[in-house]
Amino acid sequence: MDELRRLIREIPDFPKPGILFYDITTLLKDSRGLKLAVNRMSEALANQPVDVVIGVEARGFIFAPPLAYQLGAGFVPVRKPKKLPGEVERISYDLEYGSDTLEIHRDAIQPGQRVVIADDLLATGGTAAATAALVEKLGGEVVGLTFLVELTFLGGREKLARYPVTSLLTYD
Ligand code: AMP
Repeated sequence: MDELRRLIREIPDFPKPGILFYDITTLLKDSRGLKLAVNRMSEALANQPVDVVIGVEARGFIFAPPLAYQLGAGFVPVRKPKKLPGEVERISYDLEYGSDTLEIHRDAIQPGQRVVIADDLLATGGTAAATAALVEKLGGEVVGLTFLVELTFLGGREKLARYPVTSLLTYD
């Protein structure tokens, strides 16, 4: 995992002062890094049937499709408002300042389907918890959440305590 950690670039004060941004583009452009990250994420999920892998806009779109491919599952996008053309289910959730909204196509998940949620980074867990709630509104079962990076000091894992959560790298 040290190899993956070395490939992630840390940029202070982005997008605003006081935030240390974990930039994964340096890992993605490395052929070994990309393969290692996707393989490790899928290994952690491989011992169970999975019907659908959800990627959350935007950086979840990078990891969810190769994960879905490896697990023999389908890919479903969860998007920012007004991007999806069909009928949607919507959820709003609180941020530190203000709120955010996510949408999923109503017919993207069938009741009883086993769903994995993938994103690049777990911070407060607000995005992931809202995505899990969307899945459950549609009758899906969240069987796992997987992240490349977890910022443990923000307590996202506690917010997701009902679900199995795996992350490849933790920062505290
Ligand atoms: P949260 O809802 O707080 O768990 O935030 C998760 C989302 O915000 C992820 O999709 C990340 O891409 C992004 N994010 C939050 N904090 C950071 C950070 N320090 N560096 C890079 N991305 C971040």
